[in-house]
Amino acid sequence: MPAHIALIALDIPLAEPFDYLAGPLTNADIGCRVLVPFGRGHRTGVLIGFRSDSALMAEQLKPTDDKLDEVPILHQETIELLQFASQYYQQPVGQMLFAALPNLLRKPRKPNLPRRRKAVTLPAAAPPLPLTTEQEAAYTDIMSRLGRFQPFLLHGITGSGKTEVYLHLIEQVMARQGQVLMLVPEIRLTPQLSARLTERFPQHRIAISHSDISAARRMHDWLAAGRGDAAIVLGTRLAVFTPMPRLQLIIVDEEHDASFQQQDGLRYSARDLAVFRGRQRQCPVILGSATPALESWFNARNGKYQLLQMRQRAHVDAQLPQVNLIDLRGQSLRNDISPLLIAAIRKNLQRGEQSLLFINRRGYAPTLYCADCGWIAGCSRCSSKLVLHKAAHELRCHHCGLTRPLPSVCPDCASHALNPAGAGTQRLESTLEQLFPDAHILRIDSDTAGSPRQWQRMRDAILTGEANLLIGTQLLSKGHDFPNLTLVGVVGADNALYSTDFRANERLFSQLIQVGGRAGRAGQPGQVLIQTAWPQHPLFQAISQHDYASYAEQMLSEREMAGFPPYQFMVAIRAEAEQLELALQFLQRIRNLAPADAEITVFDPVAESMLRKSNRERALLLAQAKSRAQLHAWLSTWLTKLSGIHDRNVRWKIDVDPQQL
Ligand code: ADP
Ligand code: ZN
Ligand code: ZN
Repeated sequence: MPAHIALIALDIPLAEPFDYLAGPLTNADIGCRVLVPFGRGHRTGVLIGFRSDSALMAEQLKPTDDKLDEVPILHQETIELLQFASQYYQQPVGQMLFAALPNLLRKPRKPNLPRRRKAVTLPAAAPPLPLTTEQEAAYTDIMSRLGRFQPFLLHGITGSGKTEVYLHLIEQVMARQGQVLMLVPEIRLTPQLSARLTERFPQHRIAISHSDISAARRMHDWLAAGRGDAAIVLGTRLAVFTPMPRLQLIIVDEEHDASFQQQDGLRYSARDLAVFRGRQRQCPVILGSATPALESWFNARNGKYQLLQMRQRAHVDAQLPQVNLIDLRGQSLRNDISPLLIAAIRKNLQRGEQSLLFINRRGYAPTLYCADCGWIAGCSRCSSKLVLHKAAHELRCHHCGLTRPLPSVCPDCASHALNPAGAGTQRLESTLEQLFPDAHILRIDSDTAGSPRQWQRMRDAILTGEANLLIGTQLLSKGHDFPNLTLVGVVGADNALYSTDFRANERLFSQLIQVGGRAGRAGQPGQVLIQTAWPQHPLFQAISQHDYASYAEQMLSEREMAGFPPYQFMVAIRAEAEQLELALQFLQRIRNLAPADAEITVFDPVAESMLRKSNRERALLLAQAKSRAQLHAWLSTWLTKLSGIHDRNVRWKIDVDPQQL
């Protein structure tokens, strides 16, 4: 019997696609949207394949209704990529697929195709910069692999000119009528990149894919990429799924960035999927960073990725900044800023140069505490502290969104001695205002620079030199080029060293190198001052020597001894319930069903380090193994045993390659 069952992916949390009678649908329709009867109504689905028999009885099978697209909006290759992602991350295939689609295509409407663009006279393309010797070497190696699968780790120090290497490669791909997919962590913060692409390739259409793009534009760009009309696709993690029939090169810039890992809802790593896609398509994949993720560094060391290094700054007279540590032990601080750092800022202001105070705020937000009884403002729904928002006169929970008015006296002892604890950007700002009343201070964090327009305005003030004293969080550590910035001061760095997450050191290391790399990018030399009570710590020592590799090696040997990734692969099952006990019991129950396997370590269920979130308590069950393949095979067996398990008090999910522990 010929294949007559159509497999339809629906946006429904079930692992498998749904069976319908294929009717007139043929292979040419794979990737088209169809309307199907579902329950009492209708739903939009996507035809992803056929098969010849179904577990359903013939009379249960329904025909599909309308076909919504003339030409497929997803190609066979994209469907396979989505199926792989769904299987690898154990996420329902239909949900994965619909998450990848632009919003407007999720609805049962036929796309109205954009009007043809009028022919306009194109501006002349900006000329490419001649490459430095190091850039040339990297470029030549990658060029020699066009048309084949090869992942590259391009480890270039900050300012080494990775972007220029990408641009030269893109030019070659354009000359071969190819398409390039370029993934960046946060596109709204790097408008200079899309500007540079437009300048260099005015004759090519550049599709942009990220959350700030209008729904209509996103759909048109997606379709244009799928028709092969958009030569370049620039976007954030979701863009990894964009259909591109002429794809010849994939670039993941700032590949270490945690934004490539989707945490909420559907979980996947866009960086890892980009490498899968490169193999599927047989094209090179470039992972670029000044501070590669340890996983990537490990893969380069063991030959899975080819390592390309650029050790010098590209700009003729740009040097790496000098890094000095300020020993905090025994110092009297003025609201977290040491006298040495204050003096350095003062000098820099007098010289008319720009300074940046970087605060590592992760897990270290300013809260309110009582100096008399020690009360700390905690969230009543989560096990986290409430964060002080001075301007709004509020305390806010950054995990669940709870807000409370600022208390005027201590809720426990009625004392008036309520003080802010911990340095936040706002408190740093008011300290600096007192210290430097004449400075033009700009605070850049997600509160003040959340929207692209706000950020644009701030960026202008930085570039024109109008602002001379900047305060920023990790937002500012990403890939920016500020020519007037010559001093970077770092406060609060030590907090990461106290974290319970085994990745905290790696994150701090990479953040400090990145933020330090903002200093002295043009002519003037830059300086980085890091305040710490642990000046001997190898992490700080490596940073002051600009030595990524030696500390990366040290972290790797620590991971190896502890049996952590990348030496072991992990999956986590996360459960939440009203009480921790229920979540733990549930995890214990499914742990008992885990197949026995000498190669797999299954740990006891534990409470998550952030126990409560939005009034639910959370627990975690971790399994790990040396072999990814074995772990995944074991996981599948386990999950089939869990299919009947249900507990109405508990919500649970699978987290493959968990990033936050
Ligand atoms: P990265 O992304 O590696 O941090 P960028 O690509 O932003 O570095 O380049 C840093 C600076 O060096 C930029 O101002 C860029 O214009 C300049 N630059 C890059 N390549 C060259 C080159 N070949 N010749 C001169 N200047 C260059
Ligand atoms: Zn009190
Ligand atoms: Zn909360």
